[in-house]
Amino acid sequence: MAQGTTLRDLLIDEIRDLYDAERQLVKALPKMAKGATSQELRTLIETHLGETEEQVTRLERAFEMLGEKPRGKRCEGIAGIIEEGSNLLEEDFDGAVLDAGIIAGAQRAEHYEITAYGSVMAWAKQLGENEIAELLSETLEEEKSADEKLSALAEGTINLEAAQSEGDDAESDEEDEDTDRQREAGTARRAGGDMRMSAASSPRGSGAGRSSGKGGSGGSAGGRRRS
Ligand code: FE
Ligand code: ZN
Ligand code: FE
Repeated sequence: MAQGTTLRDLLIDEIRDLYDAERQLVKALPKMAKGATSQELRTLIETHLGETEEQVTRLERAFEMLGEKPRGKRCEGIAGIIEEGSNLLEEDFDGAVLDAGIIAGAQRAEHYEITAYGSVMAWAKQLGENEIAELLSETLEEEKSADEKLSALAEGTINLEAAQSEGDDAESDEEDEDTDRQREAGTARRAGGDMRMSAASSPRGSGAGRSSGKGGSGGSAGGRRRS
């Protein structure tokens, strides 16, 4: 099929890509939510699922404004991110460590979307399609906000819990075991805790990366997967 070569054609092409990406996410997010052990994380993902459904509708309106039929174009990027996420769910991680991994995967998806929406929004503006740009910017803000909430959850609780969890086949009484061990270990506990913390944040590189909150805090949890 013949395809145009203008910036407007590229805009339509990328909106089709996003339309497909959002619809893939509508299917994938419930699986990620189901895999999460933290109720807070599950709620966050489910809330973003609701937003994602609305984002699909917004893209349909954008197609309409462009005089195009809503049509998706296979988004390989988000497909790959979703596949990595579902692979993670099949591995043996559980509890907070699994949640840290789920956050990392979800943030990969958000960052992909943030860059894609940033581009199409800029093109729409450049083309004088201000209504479309406005529509796209609503979605862009939701993606940024979802990313920030994921960072906050990771940095606020989940990364720490993941660093402290026993991993392997620790059962429901793992916290009691922890407490016993820490009591026996006495002063060693504090130093050990600090070491675990720094190990968890080290993949981000030195210092500054962790505090920025620009996203990817879940990425700091990613390092735990290798241990
Ligand atoms: Fe989205
Ligand atoms: Zn794509
Ligand atoms: Fe999103």
